[in-house]
Amino acid sequence: MRIHEAAKYLNIDSKELIKILATKGIIVKSHMSTVPESIVEEIEKEIKNRNSQKIPEEEQLKEKKSEVSIKEEISLEETKVKKEIIEVTKNITVSEFANKLDIKPTELIKKLMSLGVIASINQNLGEEEIGIIASEYGKEIKFKDLYGDDLFKEEEKVEETESRAPIVTIMGHVDHGKTSLLDAIRKSNLVDKEAGGITQKIGAYEVQTQRGKIIFIDTPGHEAFTAMRARGAKVTDIVVLIVAADDGVMPQTVEAIDHAKAANVPIIVAINKIDKEGAQPERVKQELTKHNLISEEWGGKTQFALISAKKKIGIDELLEKILLEAEMLELKTNTKVKASGTIVEGRLDKGRGPVGTVLIQKGVLKVGDPFITNMTFGKVKALIDDKGHRIKEAVAVKPIEVLGFEEVPQAGDKFRVLDSEKEVKQIALKRITDKKRFIEEKKKKKITLEDLHKKIQSSVEKKLSLIIKADTIGSAEALYESIMKLSSESDIKVEIIHKDVGDITESDVLLADASNAIIIGFFVSVIPAAAEIAKEEGVEIKIYHIIYDVVNSIKAALEGLLEPEYEQIKIGEAVVRQVFKVLSENKTIAGCYMQNGKTYNDSLAAVFRNGYEILRGKITSLKRFKDNAKEVKEGFEFGLVVDKYNDVKENDKIVFLEEVQKVKKL
Ligand code: GDP
Repeated sequence: MRIHEAAKYLNIDSKELIKILATKGIIVKSHMSTVPESIVEEIEKEIKNRNSQKIPEEEQLKEKKSEVSIKEEISLEETKVKKEIIEVTKNITVSEFANKLDIKPTELIKKLMSLGVIASINQNLGEEEIGIIASEYGKEIKFKDLYGDDLFKEEEKVEETESRAPIVTIMGHVDHGKTSLLDAIRKSNLVDKEAGGITQKIGAYEVQTQRGKIIFIDTPGHEAFTAMRARGAKVTDIVVLIVAADDGVMPQTVEAIDHAKAANVPIIVAINKIDKEGAQPERVKQELTKHNLISEEWGGKTQFALISAKKKIGIDELLEKILLEAEMLELKTNTKVKASGTIVEGRLDKGRGPVGTVLIQKGVLKVGDPFITNMTFGKVKALIDDKGHRIKEAVAVKPIEVLGFEEVPQAGDKFRVLDSEKEVKQIALKRITDKKRFIEEKKKKKITLEDLHKKIQSSVEKKLSLIIKADTIGSAEALYESIMKLSSESDIKVEIIHKDVGDITESDVLLADASNAIIIGFFVSVIPAAAEIAKEEGVEIKIYHIIYDVVNSIKAALEGLLEPEYEQIKIGEAVVRQVFKVLSENKTIAGCYMQNGKTYNDSLAAVFRNGYEILRGKITSLKRFKDNAKEVKEGFEFGLVVDKYNDVKENDKIVFLEEVQKVKKL
């Protein structure tokens, strides 16, 4: 029976049940873990007993109550109902948590030990342990994220009912026309009087078509896209993949496809430069089928547009296609809440100080609003739109330049308006102290091949994501094949999210960071900037020169991910020569002789009588003469007590067993 079902059946909450189980020495992982029905029945009986004993107490209390004054009665009621709520961050340390509970760290460490958790004073605690311990002390826990991420989460919960414009990023190989397309779209949209004027480049802009508005992120390419995603921001709704008709699918085209797919964002293909001699749009379509981008006319699901960014051909049709895709996505927002959004660009302006472009995704942002982002905060001094106009308020969804940041904000950070400046400052201060630890934690969380098995818990989907960079197409393919073969032999999913030829770049590291993947390099180097980000973000890069080594280390990592299997192996055999009863302790000691092998004081013992196993249990006492022994070897006499083995008989045979973890091999 699952914990949560059992808790429901017993009419208590899961946490309480987990606590009761802990007192019985049963440690469970979560409310989805299972517990034997026999135990549930046992607990049910105990609860019934407890309640029947309680009734007279409550009746006594009632009688007493009539004597106490009304005021006291109220306070009694209150203490019964209200549990003190304490707010903690998710990775609080033992000493900090002890402080919150107002107890000594050593007391907490002891408590944790009773739950089977061995922790040192500076160790970070898990949510489950925090919950169980808190309820032992009659406290209720409210978790807060570092950086006030909870504030942003609340925002995510808001019901969204109003349709909104799509947000689009343009990606593709260098020189295939990303910038030209962004310019062409921007210009196609300017009203006459603005046409000669200079448009502001603020990191994102919006275009108004007859069928509706579209927002374009003005930093083309997948690096910016994935950098944002790595920071936890999902801004883009649709990716426009631009491929030059005279050049076809190139390495960065493939990268862009992989990045968009990893983020689960739909792709519209724009085949550009169709005005050029030598343009072969059909060939491009053909090449893209290999990457599962199949045009609708060929029975696929991907929309294709033929364009010329330079000659402004097909731009309106492309915009139409974007709106059609957006309609299918049914994008929604809510403009009735406090403004929130994502930073798409940040910079330091000489005259105006720190400036940030915020993509307002919900609500209405007004001049004077106090706000926070993950890393900084401020108060809106001015709002400037993508046409350079100062405006008083920006309604979602809209990109807007905001003045009034304390520090330059980072692209990908979240932005939210709060009730008061005071609240903003409090949060900002608290965060500075948490910042360091957060970064440390993030580094710790990244998966590395060596400790993969430790980090992926059984509750998490077992998956290993890899990026392969090799010196030649041939070796990349060979690696891919051997890794996929390993994967097919294992029940763990191996996903190769990107494979390519060439050195390991920043873009690879960002993709790995955003997708929690490991980078496997084969006869390639890591460019210094990429190595730096990898170090900062804790992304693992492994360089190999022999395919066999790659296969072996992935194999080892996968084996580590397999559920461990235990087996009991025989380590010794003894015979009972004499029986001693210790009446005072109500114990029976088996006086044994070790015929072969040995035993330890924590081994298992299987008792055989007349050739049949009658009992198997833990050794509770192992003695040589009067002294406790850790180990007894062949040819020695010793005293033995085995759990529940009270009916000891002479000539019983004892077989000693050790439990060993079997290493599963692929
Ligand atoms: P990006 O690197 O993807 O941003 O590509 P750019 O927009 O900078 O374009 C690269 C080159 O291709 C520039 O010289 C553009 O003028 C040219 N280009 C872009 N679009 C077209 C097009 O539709 N037709 C032709 N003939 N040239 C184009």
